[in-house]
Amino acid sequence: MTRPIKPVSRAFVLMVAEVRPVARSRRSFVCYATPLQNHTGAVWDYYGMGARISDRIAAIAESATLAVDAKAKALKAAGRPVIGFGAGEPDFPTPDYIVQAAVEAARKPQYHRYTPVTGLPELREAVAVKTKRDSGYQVDAAQVLITNGGKQAVYNTFAALLDPGDEVLLVAPYWTTYPEAIKLAGGVPVEITVDESTGYIATVDQFEAARTARTKVVLFVSPSNPTGAVFPPALVRAIGEWAASNDLWVVTDEIYEHLVYGGAVNESIALHAGEKVVVLNGVAKTYAMTGWRVGWMIGPTDVIKAASNLQSHATSNVANVSQVAALAAVSGDLSAVAEMRLAFDRRRLTIVSLLSQIPGVVCPEPQGAFYVYPSVRGLLGRPLRGRVSQTSAELAAVILEEAEVAIVPGEAFGTPGYARLSYALGDDDLAEGVGRIANLVSESS
Ligand code: PMP
Repeated sequence: MTRPIKPVSRAFVLMVAEVRPVARSRRSFVCYATPLQNHTGAVWDYYGMGARISDRIAAIAESATLAVDAKAKALKAAGRPVIGFGAGEPDFPTPDYIVQAAVEAARKPQYHRYTPVTGLPELREAVAVKTKRDSGYQVDAAQVLITNGGKQAVYNTFAALLDPGDEVLLVAPYWTTYPEAIKLAGGVPVEITVDESTGYIATVDQFEAARTARTKVVLFVSPSNPTGAVFPPALVRAIGEWAASNDLWVVTDEIYEHLVYGGAVNESIALHAGEKVVVLNGVAKTYAMTGWRVGWMIGPTDVIKAASNLQSHATSNVANVSQVAALAAVSGDLSAVAEMRLAFDRRRLTIVSLLSQIPGVVCPEPQGAFYVYPSVRGLLGRPLRGRVSQTSAELAAVILEEAEVAIVPGEAFGTPGYARLSYALGDDDLAEGVGRIANLVSESS
């Protein structure tokens, strides 16, 4: 029940007694209607969320992936044997040489201080060197802004590039944070929807069909979260050249660059998209460093300057000790990620094979990141332990409650009817978790 936040007349209070919840929006706050609402817009102002929370922020959806993870962790803490396929983080510890560098830094008072907003100069330099090594893309340290995780790089970038109404093309299924970051910056996400029939790959023709006079940015993510799709190099080149020829910005999120499997090759679109490019990246996935919160954006110096002005008022520099850890990570070799990649690859093949044996699940084999994105439409509209799900969101809730397995429904990624499972968890848990889903389905068949 909402309470008045300003003194109001008794008539208003009585009226509120008649207020009925009429809709629970997907933003998860309740909208109210009363017979008098049309005559007294004030009712909304006094009693709706809008009065307390700005429209801009109230419109943000909670991160569905973090919400699923939190629910699974809460059930686990309550003693339930929940297996979580929700979190997008490696289950490995951060490699020891990186932790060691941080421990040493933590003992030196110089690392107890602010750094420049843009980051430690030696880290910016190391990121420039690493970018040349891994992507073949030549940049200057002055083009690098160290951010609080890749997430802040996403926010900074859209805030720096977009004016109200500017359109951003993005492939759906998309990572759940992108549309929110775009909308917060006043932009309009324009989805290019793909499906399992093409392995979730979009073509130049699809990008072109979505382009309008308001298109400013193409958001490109390969390997993709949530689908694990890796765009083949020739297509990466074609999309980059198409964007450049249409004078569009390309924002490329390369956070999964080292997690590709089989014969897949990762090609940076930055090499093909001309001058209007922003590269987003970070240490979270490559070095199992999700908790350290270090990412970066690389772009033309005017964009980097604008983004660092924003960051200077928002968060200042990233934690100094974390930057030292990131420096050890990016200036070291890639042997730790090579080891993790082997484990992920094994789990990738296992999970695809196990899921594909479940009638009603269609699971293409991803080539990158650590996610599978099966269609679960075949499980909708039929009872599982007596419960019928009409949507993948309902199905995810049934699977969590009946099988104690957490998966993220496709609604979180703009494509209902699917689910994302992260296979960055131990081999035994992986087999047990998918086995429980399989049992739930088979006992109901
Ligand atoms: N980009 C993508 C595609 C991601 O999946 C993530 C993490 N889920 C990020 C960026 C951000 O990572 P972080 O903020 O942890 O560095």
